[in-house]
Amino acid sequence: MSNLSRGTALVTGASSGIGRVYAEKLAQRGYDLLLVARDRSRLDALAAAITGATGRRVSVLAADLSRAEGVEEVAARIASDTEISLLVNNAGMGTEGPVVGADAGKIDVMVQLNIAALTRLSVAAVNAFSGRAVGTLINIASVVALVPEAFPGAYAGTKAYVLAFTQSLHSELKDSPLRVQAVLPGYTQTEFFDRAGIDAAAVPSELVMSPEDLVEAALRGLEAGEAITIPSLPDMAAWQSVVDDRMRMVPGLSLRRPAARYGLEEAVPA
Ligand code: NAP
Repeated sequence: MSNLSRGTALVTGASSGIGRVYAEKLAQRGYDLLLVARDRSRLDALAAAITGATGRRVSVLAADLSRAEGVEEVAARIASDTEISLLVNNAGMGTEGPVVGADAGKIDVMVQLNIAALTRLSVAAVNAFSGRAVGTLINIASVVALVPEAFPGAYAGTKAYVLAFTQSLHSELKDSPLRVQAVLPGYTQTEFFDRAGIDAAAVPSELVMSPEDLVEAALRGLEAGEAITIPSLPDMAAWQSVVDDRMRMVPGLSLRRPAARYGLEEAVPA
């Protein structure tokens, strides 16, 4: 048990999987907690277990983050509760199968949860944290953001958004005292696939990480100052070379004339 008080960590999607482990590990690191998800009974049981194990104060807020009212309730809490010093935007979902033939309503719900709620809560957090000159934002993306071609459906696009938005925020805040991190899990042993209706049985076990290892590595990455954490990637030089290649394109990304390969003659002024 730690007597350290680091303020309150708000974890969304704390009722299971990765969010649950974040809650446990942040309490062990000295944070009080505010746990958010829809299932209040699971949140209450987790809160009691964490308080029993660590002595930390744990509150729960049941909210549906795919709905505007739920998101606004959590955003208002972030704006008004000056104890909140860390936000883990973890709540997320996937949908099964390709876009053609998909249930458009399910994709809408996913976009509201994975993109709109995460953005609204990030905005609330960085504004609240900026006013107090302290705070940490952790956004849970996914490695599918890096290989969207390999994953049919709209899920990879939502996670590419999380990565790009978090990179942009990190750049905006790099000279501030605020900390911003995107975490890109690979396959992780949680309820995610069952909930999405995806059969994960075919995924070889050597590709699947435990949520305990995933979160511990991500927190160590945060503590080491990483802005982007890809827990299983053996060498972060591979990520850096992707960034460097993108930056090499910058001089050609916006020019007055289309590239020569399109064969457009420049109009001669009359
Ligand atoms: P999980 O076990 O299914 O947990 C998802 C959490 O999100 C639950 O606590 C769930 O709680 C909450 N949630 C779902 N819909 C919600 C809503 N409308 N409003 C509020 N909370 C909601 O899955 P997980 O693997 O831990 O997922 C956590 C994050 O990791 C997600 O963003 C996911 O995209 C990402 N991720 C997962 C994997 C993987 O392989 N598992 C890989 C890469 C990234 P309630 O049902 O109680 O609301």
